[in-house]
Amino acid sequence: MSLDNRPVYTGGCQCGAVRFRVEGALGDASICHCRMCQKASGNFYLPLVSVRGARVEWTRGEPKRFRSSSAAWRGFCAECGTPLTFEAPDGMALAIAAFDDPAGIAPTIQWGTEAKLPYVDTIPKLPGEDTMADIGSAPYLAELVSYQHPDHDTDQWPPEERS
Ligand SMILES: [Zn+2]
Ligand SMILES: [Zn+2]
Repeated sequence: MSLDNRPVYTGGCQCGAVRFRVEGALGDASICHCRMCQKASGNFYLPLVSVRGARVEWTRGEPKRFRSSSAAWRGFCAECGTPLTFEAPDGMALAIAAFDDPAGIAPTIQWGTEAKLPYVDTIPKLPGEDTMADIGSAPYLAELVSYQHPDHDTDQWPPEERS
């Protein structure tokens, strides 16, 4: 919460070169299946939340932008490639999974369903395993060191030189 009781959200890209702060209520949360959102995210669909009515501040770095159509720009981290924004004449949306705490931002509608990939609806029915279940075939997981920026703001990033 901010001093005047407005909700505050933070987030950023995987490497930490770009960080944002949102003050105020979030708007509609959605996923978009359209072909442009698939390409822009490298994924089956792109989850976005509107920040049209909130104040957005880039607290570290700023996204690089690709103009994906006459109407919209797509912002992403130029260092690590994380998709971050969808920017249209009527406002901006942020990628939900880029938030530090995405669990509380549940999508309420799907867009672009004409392009929905045929297997998307069957994914929840696939067998599931946690990450460490694969330790036998991927023994490096046991000693893995994450270089991902943590899910909170930091004074300095990266914290030290990596070998
Ligand atoms: Zn990055
Ligand atoms: Zn889309």
